[in-house]
Amino acid sequence: MMTADQYEESLRKLNLAVYLFGKRLESVVDDPVIRPSMKAVARTYELAHCKEHEDVMVATSHITGKRINRFTHIHQNVEDLVKKSKMGRLLGRETGCCFQRCVGMDALNALSIVTYDIDKKHGTDYNERFLKYLKYVQEKDLTCDGAMTDPKGDRGLPPHRQTDPDMYVHVVEETSDGIIVRGAKAHQTGAVNSHEIIVMPTMSLQEEDKEYAVSFAVPSDTDDITYVIGRQSCDMRKIEGGRDQGNLLYGGHEALIIFDDVFVPWDRVFMYKEYDFSGELVEKFASYHRQSYACKVGVGDVLIGAAHKIAEYNGVEKASHIRDKIVEMNQLNDTLYCGCIACAAEGCREPSGTYSVNSLLANVHKQNVTRFPYEIARLAQDIAGGLLVTMPSEKDFESPEIGKWLEKYYKGVSETKNRMRILRLIENLTLGSAAVGYLTESMHGAGSPQAQRIMISRLVPMKEKEEAAEKLCGIEE
Ligand code: SF4
Ligand code: FE
Repeated sequence: MMTADQYEESLRKLNLAVYLFGKRLESVVDDPVIRPSMKAVARTYELAHCKEHEDVMVATSHITGKRINRFTHIHQNVEDLVKKSKMGRLLGRETGCCFQRCVGMDALNALSIVTYDIDKKHGTDYNERFLKYLKYVQEKDLTCDGAMTDPKGDRGLPPHRQTDPDMYVHVVEETSDGIIVRGAKAHQTGAVNSHEIIVMPTMSLQEEDKEYAVSFAVPSDTDDITYVIGRQSCDMRKIEGGRDQGNLLYGGHEALIIFDDVFVPWDRVFMYKEYDFSGELVEKFASYHRQSYACKVGVGDVLIGAAHKIAEYNGVEKASHIRDKIVEMNQLNDTLYCGCIACAAEGCREPSGTYSVNSLLANVHKQNVTRFPYEIARLAQDIAGGLLVTMPSEKDFESPEIGKWLEKYYKGVSETKNRMRILRLIENLTLGSAAVGYLTESMHGAGSPQAQRIMISRLVPMKEKEEAAEKLCGIEE
């Protein structure tokens, strides 16, 4: 298993074409906007070497028997799934942001199931190719980006009817050595901190769209791949540095990945033209990733801790309404924890041997994630007070002319500096760059709310419920 330093060094060796503010970056790892997100991924490497977190962070590979980072593991039983949820909460709490590495883990697990199922029906050899690739990922302890979301153009039209055929990633040429793909994947979490990009289709496809039914993996610095980093609210604070950033250690990032005729050798192609399995791949990945939103419980822990701390600094922590609000925040946050543990505990074995989560419960969990963090954030802002958004900059506090007045008038129970620090952290989590991860990503990441409602309506056993009601009141039809 790599250490955090080895991970950083491994990224330095990559030559990614990354654009930010209209310019190509010379050093991705050292860029002040991206570096906090790299540090968050590095934490997934670091914790695997901590004795106290070993049980959650380290697993035994089912293909080599070696100790591996759980982020590269294929879940072998329900216990593995439960540990995955615990790992998400742990890292969310450690970083206070999106630590990005789950998408790759979820893509690997989904492919371990679906490549097997495709082979059974079509007599292909995708599972063998996939297992060879998996071994490579596990032995090198790589971070993979699981890339699913296409730009989609006119959402009312399927891929083959789009005016621009590149609105969904598709194969433009087939050769004896492999395929050439074109298109883009949007909102890619942790893209430029990844060694590998694993592409999957974004939705269930029909025969007319079989050129779009493609899944493959490429090294992230493959020729003809370009990354454009998305802006985040208050991202310039990362360039300024200092305590106005709120979270001084970590952050997340998303990027648009453009595939401008990228060559993929056959041994890295895990689905091509089997449109009848595109829906299954999407559903498996989505269910795993909806479980992964255990991360928000950990980030919620940080926000609740911060809200309690500012109440103390303001001298109101004993007020009954404050105590009640803190209880409410905890109740909401741990309800989310119940969901991600439940979908893991109710997991089951797939024909490939991989354990998958209970899809209904994973979708219910993620649906709650689209709501509860917003309420937790609202309560945190309520407790924090208006200073959260009216506080002057750190530089004003340091000013020889006015600093003394700010120190005097912004003093609460404790040192003014600490009061400002905790307010900036709440600002970061509910309005700033980490609000991308805690709020908007809670809404749209792993699929927008309506995607979960469709799955819930499909998966709920309505007939059973009707029959239970009918039996009790004597309806015999
Ligand atoms: Fe992982 Fe959560 Fe980030 Fe998704 S949003 S990659 S589940 S930390
Ligand atoms: Fe996400």
